[in-house]
Amino acid sequence: LNGSTETEPLHHDKLLGGLLKPGFDEASCESRYTQSLLYRKPSPHKPSPYLVSKLRSYELLHKRCGPGTKSYKKATKNLGHDDDDDDEDQVRTSDKGCRYVVWVATDYGLGNRMISMVSLFLYALLTERIMLVDQRKDIISDLFCEPFPDTSWLLPLDFPLIGQIGSYYREHSRCYGTMLKNHAINSTTVPPLHLYLHLIHDYRDLDKTFFCEQNQNFIDNVPWLVVKSNLYFAPSLWLIPSFQTELIKLFPRKDTVFHHLTRYLFHPTNQVWGMVTSTYNANLSKADEVLGLQIRVFSTPSGYFQHVMDQVVSCTQREKLLPKTPKVKAVLVASLHPEYSDELRNVFSERTSSTGEIIEVYQPSGERVQQTDEKLHDQRALAEIYLLSLTDKLVTSRRSTFGYVAHGLGGLKPWILYKPDKNVPPDPPCVRARSMEPCFIRAPLRGCQAKKIKTAPFLRHCEDWNPGIKLV
Ligand code: GDP
Repeated sequence: LNGSTETEPLHHDKLLGGLLKPGFDEASCESRYTQSLLYRKPSPHKPSPYLVSKLRSYELLHKRCGPGTKSYKKATKNLGHDDDDDDEDQVRTSDKGCRYVVWVATDYGLGNRMISMVSLFLYALLTERIMLVDQRKDIISDLFCEPFPDTSWLLPLDFPLIGQIGSYYREHSRCYGTMLKNHAINSTTVPPLHLYLHLIHDYRDLDKTFFCEQNQNFIDNVPWLVVKSNLYFAPSLWLIPSFQTELIKLFPRKDTVFHHLTRYLFHPTNQVWGMVTSTYNANLSKADEVLGLQIRVFSTPSGYFQHVMDQVVSCTQREKLLPKTPKVKAVLVASLHPEYSDELRNVFSERTSSTGEIIEVYQPSGERVQQTDEKLHDQRALAEIYLLSLTDKLVTSRRSTFGYVAHGLGGLKPWILYKPDKNVPPDPPCVRARSMEPCFIRAPLRGCQAKKIKTAPFLRHCEDWNPGIKLV
């Protein structure tokens, strides 16, 4: 590693400052190394040497414990049998060196899935577990290349609990919060072979005790953790004292957690990458500057609204996101609704005829409705998240995890569109984000972390959702 400081531009290397391990087959995943470099500006943020070495040890652990290994066989041997609960012998003999977190796909969209995977991967790094991802919905391998060398992150389809993990929810008897509620766990309880952790936005106070140090001591002894989540819960991991020491070493700059980990984990498959590059080459590559606009409309019904349109235009004007210089500018619009780019084209063509500038508006898709788990739809969504991350400046919609992933990947501090107030654009229309980190929109504000949340210098309430917290 060279001696440059953290904010100096990195030498533009294909391994992202050591984040990525060399040696993968390049052709099977073109986005991983050189190809991305052709499209992405070098990140000004360098991973710490400690993060790099932690990732290398993680990779070795994953290879040793991953699917198909002796350790994996041993660890899954008695899983799911009736005596899973109370066979002390089993727990003692289960391979102490191999412990697992299983990320289970939920019905939420791609952004929700990606932010929760990053959070869970961070948890795996901190607790020396390996992360396996549920592939039953078949989206993972259509979207992402394998991130870890010489092994797989896909949960095998013959995993002993495969038939039941889909039905795990809050009230399930295997759910940690429910077990606490039923007093099924106390200080003398022998840790079970597996637990379900419910870290979805509707989780209860007892589920949230996952974030308490003392509860982590118990959870640490459970070899298999099955997790459903749609949240970016990394900020609350920072408030667990034993994790904090490690996190400070891993991320001396606290607002780079998501940026580094998404770039480490997610490499679009060649199919998705083809969508990214063809769109980029045809519509964005010739522009001097690219502005990304992500327009997500959460109202019901969703659709095209004049007040949302006015808000977008007023944000770009007020924040001078398209300076009136005679340059070629491209505006990349991502939205389920094609009408936004049609209308923006009208607005900007009126403006450009008087100033001599060229503004081209392009929207890759207008799917109208969310169709999560439709292969092509999800691939388009991922391609658009990537395209947004390649822009120079980015405007995103509030509380959208789709937007969170785009700005985190790109290392961009977006301008966030505020929630419109009863059919009128809010004033001001948007606000500049303080950091490129996603917001933890349902952070546990009560309980063991209540005091620390208020005083932690590295946390702030989110610009787009006040009860939420984010790393800054
Ligand atoms: P969130 O609901 O905004 O937090 O983001 P998610 O990604 O979790 O869920 C929204 C889903 O709707 C996406 O994954 C896509 O399937 C779809 N979607 C929403 N906005 C867009 C968009 O601008 N372009 C495309 N292609 N799909 C979108």
